[in-house]
Amino acid sequence: MPVRRERVDPVRDQSELGLVHRRWILPDDVQRPILLPQLARLWRGLIDLGCLDPGQEIRLERARPGAAPELLEMPAGASPGALLAGSGAATLVTQVVWVDDGDRRDPYAVEGESDPQGFRDYTLYAIDAAEQLLLPIPPVAHLCGACGAREARELPRFGEGVLLDLTQACGKCGATVVLGRDRGELKNGAVFLLEELACRTAISIELPREPQSEDLPDAQVAQLLREAFGGTDELADDAVPPAE
Ligand SMILES: [Zn+2]
Repeated sequence: MPVRRERVDPVRDQSELGLVHRRWILPDDVQRPILLPQLARLWRGLIDLGCLDPGQEIRLERARPGAAPELLEMPAGASPGALLAGSGAATLVTQVVWVDDGDRRDPYAVEGESDPQGFRDYTLYAIDAAEQLLLPIPPVAHLCGACGAREARELPRFGEGVLLDLTQACGKCGATVVLGRDRGELKNGAVFLLEELACRTAISIELPREPQSEDLPDAQVAQLLREAFGGTDELADDAVPPAE
């Protein structure tokens, strides 16, 4: 059975435009080494805790530099092992579940109550290529820290983020990317060092609208994330179009 991607859910009345809330949780240090087995354990843990549906398929996307992207659907139980095969690649695994059916654990539930009701779209990103990182929130411009040039770069989309190629040279001075020196300018005009915007791994959770709680109220899910990521940062993307 294919993964259900459509968001035409009768209880979803808040967002007539079909806009959703997306929360990114990522390690708070882009340099922290995080290995594929840790991420496979995290994904397996989300299945075991009941956040993900073991009876539904999971979609996997994999991009290797210079190769056509792979798109696979597989039983949930096979997906942690498939993550391990992502050496040298950018991989994401994703599943949409519905908290309304009562069987799913909602990490944003407060005292057992899900608010909002409806779907949770989980996506785990694992970037294992040495010269690539994920930018969960795509910048509109790259600001070279060596010469000050401001360039709008076309970065390849991966899931809901884009991939940053660390070997890409500045069009003006030829310097390659330095995370602690170059900056990214976001759509809202805010400017951050790339080391604050980029990551090797992240999990995104999409909901119909912003949850009540900023942190994950579910201690076991939060602990699972800490074991895989160490300390985390959160980025919220409100009123965005749903993942495709
Ligand atoms: Zn430059």
